[in-house]
Amino acid sequence: MSFQVFGIPVSRGVAIGRALLVASSRVDVAHYFIDASRVEAEIGRLREARNTVANELESLQRAMPAEAPPELSALLDVHLMLLHDEVLRDATRLWISERHYNAEWALSAQLEVIARQFDEMEDEYLRERKADIEQVVERLLRALARAPSLIGATAHGARDFGGEDPLVLVANDIAPADMLQFKRSIFTGFITDVGGKTSHTAIVARSLDIPAVVGAREASRLIRQDDWVVIDGDAGIVVVNPSPIVLEEYRFRQRQIDLERERLSRLRHTPAVTLDGEHIELLANIEQPADAEAALLAGALGVGLFRSEFMFMNRPGDLPGEDEQFEAYRAAVEAMNGLPVTIRTVDVGADKPLDRMSISELRHEHALNPAMGLRAIRWSLSEPAMFRQQLRAILRASAFGKVRLLVPMLTQPREIRLTLEAIARAKQQLVEANRAFSDIEVGAMIEVPAAALIVKTFLRYFDFISLGTNDLIQYTLAIDRADETVAHLYDPWHPAVLELIAGSVAQARAMGKHVSVCGEMAGDTEFTELLLAMGLRSLSMHPSQIASVKRRILRTDTRRLEQRLAQVLSSEAPGVTAAQAFAARGGNEQGQMEGNGRARNVGA
Ligand code: PEP
Ligand code: MG
Repeated sequence: MSFQVFGIPVSRGVAIGRALLVASSRVDVAHYFIDASRVEAEIGRLREARNTVANELESLQRAMPAEAPPELSALLDVHLMLLHDEVLRDATRLWISERHYNAEWALSAQLEVIARQFDEMEDEYLRERKADIEQVVERLLRALARAPSLIGATAHGARDFGGEDPLVLVANDIAPADMLQFKRSIFTGFITDVGGKTSHTAIVARSLDIPAVVGAREASRLIRQDDWVVIDGDAGIVVVNPSPIVLEEYRFRQRQIDLERERLSRLRHTPAVTLDGEHIELLANIEQPADAEAALLAGALGVGLFRSEFMFMNRPGDLPGEDEQFEAYRAAVEAMNGLPVTIRTVDVGADKPLDRMSISELRHEHALNPAMGLRAIRWSLSEPAMFRQQLRAILRASAFGKVRLLVPMLTQPREIRLTLEAIARAKQQLVEANRAFSDIEVGAMIEVPAAALIVKTFLRYFDFISLGTNDLIQYTLAIDRADETVAHLYDPWHPAVLELIAGSVAQARAMGKHVSVCGEMAGDTEFTELLLAMGLRSLSMHPSQIASVKRRILRTDTRRLEQRLAQVLSSEAPGVTAAQAFAARGGNEQGQMEGNGRARNVGA
């Protein structure tokens, strides 16, 4: 049966492939492909986990007090039986041997299959046994977590499994760090039930440059394993089991998009200069040193944001030490060949928890409101030794190229002082240890309204500022950027947001300080003219967005933007109207074309 699911478009283009469902479990698990040569070892891990759980259940049975109700012992019998049931055991092994999933993923994929079968049962008693199988799988996952895999993820493992069809990943949620593991994997698209346009999962999906839809609510429940799905990443529509005519229409669009990409790639060496001769610096946002290659290929003039926190995530009980960090920063700096690399100090917390187990803890249990909790610089300042270690690693990398240091989420003037003191101390320690470093520029992210309101203070202490519009919008409008239920209220065109951005840029320019935008607005052509009109001359975005932003710049005359900006800034109209007004006055054909693309809807 063909049907559609609607969500939030976060990464453009069309993907067509078979659904691969990643089940969500109460125990959050890693999903990655293993190398073909390690299949047997991974099956061995699963066997070990089963033995451990069998021992656990048997010793629970033995320890059962005589007065315990007989149902309890019967329940443990059922769990033992399920543990050894071939539907769970053999099928899980197949996910590992044929598709090369890691053991945890294989288990959760098979749980998904079994859970659906239980859901369809007529008999209520049997239907309720689903909870038992879930508990058994949860025990197995916990046993696996205690014996982590030594088998590294492989980027290409899945190519070896039987099917040749492209795959689309469907999940309730994917942690940003897991998403990063899917870089260079074979997925052609992503669909998640939860998330907003600037959630970090969406940001990483966008950096992969493949179509993605988030916040599709029921997608992982409605779509079944191996269903054919089309992701329309422009409209935020997922077409499940499309009819041949719809499929053909989307294949046609795919070919058009490929042609368009080909045309855009020719702009790689063209300088980003407006019609009136304004030079615009286009920089790249990266998550790991290996991304520097994509940045250079896209023609970036440097890295405007290296999100160092991805190195810290998914490492329970073990954070990267100074040398490991230094090597990573040096790799990025050397790869950029003398172009500047802006390394942001660790920004964990909110939807970027330190390790996987703490995702649910951070989101739901301990931190009541993690986006407003111990995040970013607040966490760094609460861990002074760790912070200085990172600062030393960044400083040491500056001996190998042009490094800038960027500090996230600064809000209090006191945090400015403590941060600058920590940097001075780290430098002093390097001098004492006879380690080389250069005199680097230090910048502040302006991403909290309080910081934007006192940006003058920040500009007195820092060499440059970078506007983190993702968080600035989140905190100004009190909208959780990762919450799909309020995603429609997340409005970059809100007059308050525009005022904070325009004010910060004007202040920085007046004080002769470098100012850039590194939030998602920078890479979205809907905002290019607006940001240029506000006086921005430096934008940092995913490498894949550089060419289309550059094309927009090449067609813009900044002298003609002034009046439009003044009107939009003085308007009391709601955000959407302001956006329309700004675009309409430009009469920009390109803008209209792209706008139509977003609203497009193809029936199945
Ligand atoms: C931002 O908030 O705009 C930003 C660039 O930082 P992050 O998305 O990593 O929070
Ligand atoms: Mg931010």
